[in-house]
Amino acid sequence: MTAPVIGVLALQGSFADHHAALESCGATAVTVRRISELESVDGLVIPGGESTTIARLLRVFELAAPLRERIASGLPVYGTCAGMILLADRVTDNTAPRTVGGMDVLVRRNAFGRQTESFEADLQVAGIADDAHGGPLRAVFIRAPLIEQCGPAVNVLARVRLADGSNPVVAAQQGHLLATSFHPEITGELRLHQHFVGMCSSGR
Ligand code: GLN
Repeated sequence: MTAPVIGVLALQGSFADHHAALESCGATAVTVRRISELESVDGLVIPGGESTTIARLLRVFELAAPLRERIASGLPVYGTCAGMILLADRVTDNTAPRTVGGMDVLVRRNAFGRQTESFEADLQVAGIADDAHGGPLRAVFIRAPLIEQCGPAVNVLARVRLADGSNPVVAAQQGHLLATSFHPEITGELRLHQHFVGMCSSGR
């Protein structure tokens, strides 16, 4: 079987580390900035960064509508942090830009407050990084969003326990769409990328 070709949306944000992580998992990683590049990939990563900027550049580069169409026809997409916001059908912040959408979730941007704007936690990610799959992973949250509500088709993969006793959702999958609040690409953690490469390989 040939390796899937996975695009990394490279308009703004932390795209280089995703490129390396995908290659380490056996995929062929390519940069996506144009429609022709988007058309040629078997999957796409939307990296962290600033969701308002990425959303604006998606429109400037005329990628927003083609990306929505490819998602509607089943393209696997993995959104980390700002990428999670862009995959959400709904965002609590009504000044947020129009997202690409596709996942039946309500997301809150910059959800962890000032003191904990950036923090780390060990997370159990169901079926990917739990006791049966190499133990929990170290998750890095950087001005991260969280998922406040999930529709019935959404599978919750991980929650983080916070000091106030709440337990919000920080990783989820809905069919061909995967989203995490945190950044696995910056810790050398490969299990989520491995899982996503599998999602991109199964439909081929
Ligand atoms: N706070 C950013 C946003 O709202 C996301 C931060 C990140 O991707 N690390 O887009």
